[in-house]
Amino acid sequence: MLSVMISFNYQSLQNLSNYCKTVAISCYNHDMSPKSNQFADYLRKSGNSITATRQIVFETLSKNHPIGMAELVKLCSPVCDRASVYRTITLFEELDIVTKVNSGWKYKLELSDRFSDHHHHLTCTNCGKIVPINHSEELESLIVKLASNASFTSEKHQLEIHGLCSACQQVLRRDLSTSALIKHTV
Ligand SMILES: [Zn+2]
Ligand SMILES: [Zn+2]
Ligand SMILES: [Zn+2]
Repeated sequence: MLSVMISFNYQSLQNLSNYCKTVAISCYNHDMSPKSNQFADYLRKSGNSITATRQIVFETLSKNHPIGMAELVKLCSPVCDRASVYRTITLFEELDIVTKVNSGWKYKLELSDRFSDHHHHLTCTNCGKIVPINHSEELESLIVKLASNASFTSEKHQLEIHGLCSACQQVLRRDLSTSALIKHTV
């Protein structure tokens, strides 16, 4: 019979954790997209240093559109812990790096117009799905015009359309016809 003893001690776990962090930092440093370079410049100019956590949170946001806080924390772990992701998002909000997209009484996060193309969303009130709306020059100029009509300059705006996505409409239609059928047969 073969028995294998594996012993862990706190120091070796600590070393492993540091190693993972180093690997993550070097991976991100070697794989800098133009957007990441722009982000690094922006952080520096605003007087903030570039940390592994800030870089990982930024990369995760740029790959996932839009994303809930819990999902973001999950994707950034184990390199970044929950508290540091929350702290980073607070900083990103102050620096206008991230925007909150309202989804019912909750919100999701995505990169602000500074780091992504300006767009709006359709949110499904039933399943929570959020999809971007195609860019409309007509809509954009109308918003600027509405602001200027009220003697306002238009700096930024948010427009969210809430309703039911096509899949949820189908389910609802099916449910309605089933309940109508039940009523009819009773
Ligand atoms: Zn839906
Ligand atoms: Zn979006
Ligand atoms: Zn717009």
